[in-house]
Amino acid sequence: MSDLDAFIAGLPKAELHVHHVGSASPRIVAELAARHPDSKVPTDPEALVDYFTFRDFAHFVEVYLSVVDLIRDAEDVRLLTYEVARDMARQNIRYAELTVTPYSSTRRGIPDAAFVEAIEDARKSAESELGVALRWCFDIPGEAGLEAAEETARIACGLKPEGLVSFGLGGPEIGVPRPQFKPYFDRALAEGLHSVPHAGETTGPETVWDALTELRAERIGHGTSSVRDPKLLAHLAEHRIPLEVCPTSNIATRAVRTLDEHPVKDMVAAGVLVTINSDDPPMFGTDLNTEYGVAARLLELDEEGLAALAKNAVEVSFMDAPAKARLAAEIDAYTASWPR
Ligand SMILES: [Zn+2]
Repeated sequence: MSDLDAFIAGLPKAELHVHHVGSASPRIVAELAARHPDSKVPTDPEALVDYFTFRDFAHFVEVYLSVVDLIRDAEDVRLLTYEVARDMARQNIRYAELTVTPYSSTRRGIPDAAFVEAIEDARKSAESELGVALRWCFDIPGEAGLEAAEETARIACGLKPEGLVSFGLGGPEIGVPRPQFKPYFDRALAEGLHSVPHAGETTGPETVWDALTELRAERIGHGTSSVRDPKLLAHLAEHRIPLEVCPTSNIATRAVRTLDEHPVKDMVAAGVLVTINSDDPPMFGTDLNTEYGVAARLLELDEEGLAALAKNAVEVSFMDAPAKARLAAEIDAYTASWPR
């Protein structure tokens, strides 16, 4: 491990763009598969590493759906959530806004109240036992259309779990225009939730504009294509609307061809605030520490630069002010104590 990698490993971090089911590591999938022996997913962690080696994007979707199929009852939801927090604790992630898609579970017959109780129970245990504070972004799976939007808004606004801070929109962008989801974002925002849709990952900058004007986005998931529109970059910089950048994910989904061509440097050069995230880490063969390493290389950052990146995430998170101040101070103390 290089000195910089060692620094990253110990650096206290916050992650703002990471998906619930997409965080199921081979270890967690093995535990879930053992609960449901009739599934076709292997239970042996070694065989699972093989299973998680994707041949192409279609294979990725197939594996992702087979993991979704393992989440059948509230105990599966609780186990997944708590174990995801355990994987975060190992990377010194202190706070994460986890994107959760309640619709995938309620559609499969898990009652909404039981789903919410399971994630909230895991959240409380993770905070007290693992030192990881989880918060939720409930997201609409865009491909499932307005029925999913209605259900997601209903659960978010009706049950309002304590850990819920934001409302999102994921899934494919092509053929799924953002403006149709405006009424659901309006409802969520009226309840005090923050707006954090995915936009501009696989479509152009006009989708990011839609997310800003129609969905009143406060942060943008990915926003990769923003660099094609200088006016948009200037707008994001001026209004301090951060982009949640997930470098390795962008390569895996072919939103960007190679890491060296990743536009994160242009975003930063334009004065846009960026945070670094892992999206669906085990599925993309990465984790947050690896993504910080990628960012260090692409942005030519040293320890101070990496600490500043970690503090960006704290600053634009939806933590309360005292929690932000505590985590920022922890990052400063760690950085100051690093031998050089
Ligand atoms: Zn995402």
